[in-house]
Amino acid sequence: MPEIVGNLHLHTTASDGTGSHAEVAAAAIRAGLDFIVYTDHNIAVEGVEGWWRDAHGREILRLMGQEINDMQLVPEYNHLLCHFVADDLNNLAADPQQLIDAIHARGGLTFLAHPLERPGMGAAQEMYPWLSWDISGYTGIELWNTMTDVKWQLRSKLRAVIGAYLPYLVLTAPFPEVLAKWDELLATGQKVVVIGNSDAHAMSFSLGPLRRKIYSYEFLFRTVNTHLLLAEPLAHEVSQARRQIFEALQLGHCFVSNDLVASSRGFSFSGSSGDRQASMGDTLPLQETATLRIASPLPARLRLLHQGRVVAETTDRELTWQTAERGVYRVEAYRYYWGWQRGWVFTNPIYVE
Ligand SMILES: [Zn+2]
Ligand SMILES: [Zn+2]
Repeated sequence: MPEIVGNLHLHTTASDGTGSHAEVAAAAIRAGLDFIVYTDHNIAVEGVEGWWRDAHGREILRLMGQEINDMQLVPEYNHLLCHFVADDLNNLAADPQQLIDAIHARGGLTFLAHPLERPGMGAAQEMYPWLSWDISGYTGIELWNTMTDVKWQLRSKLRAVIGAYLPYLVLTAPFPEVLAKWDELLATGQKVVVIGNSDAHAMSFSLGPLRRKIYSYEFLFRTVNTHLLLAEPLAHEVSQARRQIFEALQLGHCFVSNDLVASSRGFSFSGSSGDRQASMGDTLPLQETATLRIASPLPARLRLLHQGRVVAETTDRELTWQTAERGVYRVEAYRYYWGWQRGWVFTNPIYVE
């Protein structure tokens, strides 16, 4: 399947980011991304969608989204990523269910941003988790958000100094409580698509006399991204390409990866049962037994989970598993990077029914 890599949560000077739309796109090209979705806070920006070319003639597809939250709340929790909708729907921000329904009615997708957070240091102590779980009909959740992870990792002065000079040491894996929350949602029988993003703002960091611009857009775009598996190569015609990206996200034909650990292009999780085939995000009707296959471009600690529990594990490039049990199967892969094991790949599930 053709694979494209992109980032679906980032900020520009249109809200609280430090880079212009063009600077952000140029950084994404340098980091090797195929597409980005701008998601500035509570603002609908027009006229930025389409292919954008840098000075070297390299191209990237730019799409529009927003990150909407109710700015009256203290702290401002419930951040909703609204992709593919350009209308200003901030008047609905106080009612998450109404907002979700309105986005979907306009042909958009919704993901709960950084659904669970951990406190950082100083001003970053504030947390913006998702609290209104009494909702339905959303597309999925953000499983891994680089800046949420960074905020927690830099929670003391010593950690902040180390993190400022050695950003490679910082990222670990999605928080176990976010993985557990996802498994809990999946156990209710709903399909919940996961994505992973940078949440890039590229702010500078200061600690006493120390002032450093860390976590640049380019660096962040080399970290947590979403890899999409397409049925056909990405079209050059914008509305067609947009529809391909929309469909891959809606169906969960995608996986989350920390590309800093290693490039995960080519990673696959597939299933077959009788004459039926399935890829991540798909439902696989069970005919007596099903075979699930993981194939990794590099050796990794591969874990196959069924209903949130590990059922098979190996350190290799492949894992094949036969099962006669229905349920939700998903994959996690870990690899060593700068001395310790990090989360690398987290796939959307195959739903064996
Ligand atoms: Zn947010
Ligand atoms: Zn954000």
